[in-house]
Amino acid sequence: HTHSNASDGVLSPADLVREAGRRSIVVLGLTDHDTLAGLPEAIETASSGGIDLIPGVELSTEVDDHEVHILGYFVDPHDDLLAERLAWLVAKREERAERIVERLHELGFPIAYERVRTIAGPGTIGRPHIARAMIEAGYIETVNEGFSRFLATGRPVFVPKERVLPEDAVQLLVRAGAVPVLAHPLSTGDIEGTLKRLVPLGLRGLEVFYGEYGSAVHQDLLTIARRWRLASTGGSDYHGPGFKEGRELGSAPVPGWCVCELRSQMDRR
Ligand code: AMP
Ligand code: ZN
Ligand code: FE
Ligand code: FE
Repeated sequence: HTHSNASDGVLSPADLVREAGRRSIVVLGLTDHDTLAGLPEAIETASSGGIDLIPGVELSTEVDDHEVHILGYFVDPHDDLLAERLAWLVAKREERAERIVERLHELGFPIAYERVRTIAGPGTIGRPHIARAMIEAGYIETVNEGFSRFLATGRPVFVPKERVLPEDAVQLLVRAGAVPVLAHPLSTGDIEGTLKRLVPLGLRGLEVFYGEYGSAVHQDLLTIARRWRLASTGGSDYHGPGFKEGRELGSAPVPGWCVCELRSQMDRR
């Protein structure tokens, strides 16, 4: 589970795959937010570099005050219908980013929306891009500080994303032939409740080996995955160098058998 600059990661898809190769990663999931745009380049680079690239996408949904992120593994990078649905989410992200920039202006921290757009490059826009523009303007020192002081839920310039229900995300991915997996499950605030809602709709995996979690949490999540007969997956949620502890590329201890479990969920479809 990683991100490229097709969404809010720093490296291009090709550079991400090459960096994974340098770090002896043998299986890499590219799961950009709301877009399939990075996948063809990643697959192309991986095929010449001997890396097994699992094409994916990450959809952000919300339940009450909690974020529920759904990964869709083995998406078809050329699924035009899915791409069209995702384009709507991307347009909503643009509107939201504009509103956040307006609020920053009102609070006395002006940044140019154009600058945020440039930092986002070809990718889908997100709060990390706004944080990077704020660093350039000298308002904050790190992306993390941008979140904790301004951008996170409940902070002064927080604007919620277009409301998408996790049920809708799971169904969209199932219809697209992908394997839906619950990402970084602790963010949901209620893992059992979330699984009760989503497993009957086709959720097939749980992100057990998330890099930010310690081994005790990995064990607890593994037990939950087994009980619900879900594939265990993992990943660093890498967005670029020096992002956050536990988020370095290759830092998540994902056992090889996770790949087999994920593949067998795909065969079950
Ligand atoms: P958005 O897509 O605009 O909702 O922004 C969410 C993205 O911001 C996710 O990819 C997170 O990895 C990243 N993010 C969330 N919280 C933080 C934080 N405290 N520091 C840095 N990045 C964060
Ligand atoms: Zn992200
Ligand atoms: Fe996420
Ligand atoms: Fe992610």
